[in-house]
Amino acid sequence: MQLRYNFRLYPNGPQRAALARAFGCARVVFNDALRAREDARAASRPFMSSRELSRRLTAAKRTPERAWLGEVSAVVLQQSLRDLDAAYRNFFDGLKGKRPRTGPPRFKSRKDRRQAVRFTANARWKITPSGDLSLPKIGDVRVKWSRSLPSTPSTVTVIKDSAGRYFASFVVDTRPEILPKATTEVGIDLGLGYFAVLSDGTKIDSPRFLRRAEKKLRRAQRAFSRKTKDSKNREKARLRVARVHVQVGDARREFHHRLSTRLIRENQAVAVENLAVKAMARTRLAKSVNDAGWSTFVSMLEYKAAKFGREFHRIGRFEPTSRVCSACGMKDGPKPLRVRVWTCGACGATLDRDINAAVNIGRAAGLAVTACGARVRPECVPARRGEAGTHRDGQQTVVGIPTFMEGSGSQP
Ligand SMILES: [Zn+2]
Repeated sequence: MQLRYNFRLYPNGPQRAALARAFGCARVVFNDALRAREDARAASRPFMSSRELSRRLTAAKRTPERAWLGEVSAVVLQQSLRDLDAAYRNFFDGLKGKRPRTGPPRFKSRKDRRQAVRFTANARWKITPSGDLSLPKIGDVRVKWSRSLPSTPSTVTVIKDSAGRYFASFVVDTRPEILPKATTEVGIDLGLGYFAVLSDGTKIDSPRFLRRAEKKLRRAQRAFSRKTKDSKNREKARLRVARVHVQVGDARREFHHRLSTRLIRENQAVAVENLAVKAMARTRLAKSVNDAGWSTFVSMLEYKAAKFGREFHRIGRFEPTSRVCSACGMKDGPKPLRVRVWTCGACGATLDRDINAAVNIGRAAGLAVTACGARVRPECVPARRGEAGTHRDGQQTVVGIPTFMEGSGSQP
């Protein structure tokens, strides 16, 4: 299986200048090729082939206007053309319904948040005996090897992010590291109240990094907007904003990695719900949804399961996981998000909404999960103001306006 490994790079001054040149040349080649294809389309000429683009690139290098393209590795420029081809392929495949729709390729800008160039084996890049990354026409760049590479990669992508940090990114073949069999299997309910709730009753708090950092971010953004356009101070302020974003992203990734590794190590099988994350992100819950970063987390679970020889299950969204009683299997009405605890009308079990859902997710995937964790004793439930309340006659009522209903196509 192929995994991506990223390492921080620390280029010196001349190397940063050389990389800036490489990013710039790759961008110009990409944009020139895109313009050539767009012009052809506008003139109703046939789609320009990759070979034709490549031939034009070679010719352009001999003109005074584009002679400077010779200052960077030819491989970098060729790879830029490949990127354009990939962007077109994704666009066309999207139109044909073979993959999610994406827009047509767009022109790259010097102001793009992420700059990247790729060196293949043809570029003769290498890792030096002293552990530097040797790149053609750039030099030996210092690398922080935060972990060891499981195999020798053939290609390296050098990235500069919006915060001005440099990374080397390798795709390498890894062998699975099959772990000894675990005895437990677990259903996982990803939610907004808690980041994740497990069918065994464990609740993992949602890390609201963005919210917490938001104050800091707002302050940085205010400072940024006050700066005069095109000034040195404005650029500094922009970098500060980008750095806060980056810190939040790093902290979130770290949390996802730790939790996904733990869940995969401890359980023989995990099951999650196939969330319509994209659809949910369009609702008013958008901020929390993006903040939680479920899809990244789920993909980590998936690849780690494959890596460590565990089972990964994704169940369909149509399963009414929050409405079915995990004790007796009775299907109840839809539950607004405010209802955290409900009582089954058929068997009388008092159920924790999230744990009950996690149990149902595990069951729907055919896992051996126990239902006992989902049951709560009424006296143990903290009564939260404005959430669910119970009348003295025992009938449950919902206080407040439901903001989001789960389940589709059924009436309350
Ligand atoms: Zn029941």
